[in-house]
Amino acid sequence: MAAIWRGLRFRCPKCGQGRIFRAYLKQADMCDHCGEPLGAIRADDGPAWLTVLSLGPFLVAITFFVSFGHFPLWAALPVAAIAVTGAVLLLLPRIKGAFIAALWVSGLGNGAGEAD
Ligand SMILES: [Zn+2]
Repeated sequence: MAAIWRGLRFRCPKCGQGRIFRAYLKQADMCDHCGEPLGAIRADDGPAWLTVLSLGPFLVAITFFVSFGHFPLWAALPVAAIAVTGAVLLLLPRIKGAFIAALWVSGLGNGAGEAD
């Protein structure tokens, strides 16, 4: 779990010091602290799915808020859209970091041919 916690904080799952991303959602080729080849870990679409799944209850809450709130729809919808977009933008890199860390822990996601 330590590695996944490091991933949530955008840190290298191995040493917890180097950065996992070199830009928003762009994986570093390797850890700048310990040299772990983070770029070899392929997270693919997993983080996006996890983000959608984890936001499910949030989306339901917003739907109820919009449906039963006392706000006019023209005001509630943009606020809801901004809240959802903001939540996705905040969550996605964290979930991706944790996902990369989980792949690193399990040994999955490393490029084929490196098994030897
Ligand atoms: Zn490292």
